[in-house]
Amino acid sequence: MTQIIKINENDIKNQDIEKLKKCAESLKKGNLVIFPTETVYGIGASALDEKAAKKIFIAKGRPNDNPLIVHVSSIQMINDICYDINNIEQKIIDTFFPGPITLILKRKNIIPDYVTASLDTVGIRMPENKIAQKLIELANIPVAAPSANISGKPSGTLIDDIIDEFDTKVDYIIDGGISKIGVESTVVKVIDNVVNILRPGKISPEDFEKAGFLVKLDKNTFKSVETVEKVESPGMKYRHYAPKAKTILVESGNDIQKVKLIKEDLKKYNGKIAVMGFKEHEKYFKDINVEFLNIGSVNDLLEISKNIFTTLRKVDKDNIDICYIEGVEKKGIGIAIMNRLIRASGGNII
Ligand code: AMP
Ligand code: MG
Repeated sequence: MTQIIKINENDIKNQDIEKLKKCAESLKKGNLVIFPTETVYGIGASALDEKAAKKIFIAKGRPNDNPLIVHVSSIQMINDICYDINNIEQKIIDTFFPGPITLILKRKNIIPDYVTASLDTVGIRMPENKIAQKLIELANIPVAAPSANISGKPSGTLIDDIIDEFDTKVDYIIDGGISKIGVESTVVKVIDNVVNILRPGKISPEDFEKAGFLVKLDKNTFKSVETVEKVESPGMKYRHYAPKAKTILVESGNDIQKVKLIKEDLKKYNGKIAVMGFKEHEKYFKDINVEFLNIGSVNDLLEISKNIFTTLRKVDKDNIDICYIEGVEKKGIGIAIMNRLIRASGGNII
């Protein structure tokens, strides 16, 4: 049976620590625990235990060739499982850890092949979320944890969705409230002294530039899975995030031109239509028969990133046939948002 535990990240009490100790014991025994992080929820297992890691792949229906990110709570843990960390990698750790970023490093054999899909590297992340940190610290082992969602679905950011998908499949679910960032970590790998962003996230190319790094976005960042070329990060070749509805991403035009474009284009379709749009645009859709799903203010990309997966899931819950999504500017966290939306739309872009 799955036990659900509620903890307030900003006020972790002694009794919460006692509960976290039970979760940590469960991880050490080789069982699964779902826990909150600042990006999305993770479904965790001991990264030192091949059998435990296999349970994650089974619970998610995740393809075996898609490696897991390993979560740590200390620099010591990184050195226990990785080697040959160069100056640039060390500077990334010093600058951005703990935080919403995964750094690909050379792995020691203590991490079983199954965790990394037999790659000789491993993705390392030190979450900033206090509940996640405490859990890993108490378990005192690195914790492999991909996003808590059935493979192909948007990553889990809301506890109700997570309970729906994983109740009875894991030992514990720790409810830490809605995920603050809402999109997964920035995945980076240093190649020839350049920070390659394999998957964009909250920590953006601008953040790396400001900190003095040479940085490059992967060539597949704005490609749909139908058109990706050879990928550095196996996860990037899989279909992801797409609702059942025909999903159309509206990239062209400025703010208000997007509204006009949608209103013109939707005349082509019958069926239940939804618009995932900016709060400021809701008023323009009042006069027609569409369901308006507010993704946040056009001026607040962090609010949009927080809402994006929950809103994509709502499109399915409301049985929408056609869904338009207003695109955002490709800068800062907007790069991560557009990367996910291009994949969700399966390349239907106007
Ligand atoms: P998730 O844990 O569901 O957020 O997905 C993890 C992402 O990190 C996937 O896109 C993986 O392909 C990527 N990843 C994990 N480990 C590695 C690695 N060693 N090399 C390249 N990409 C990785
Ligand atoms: Mg995932």
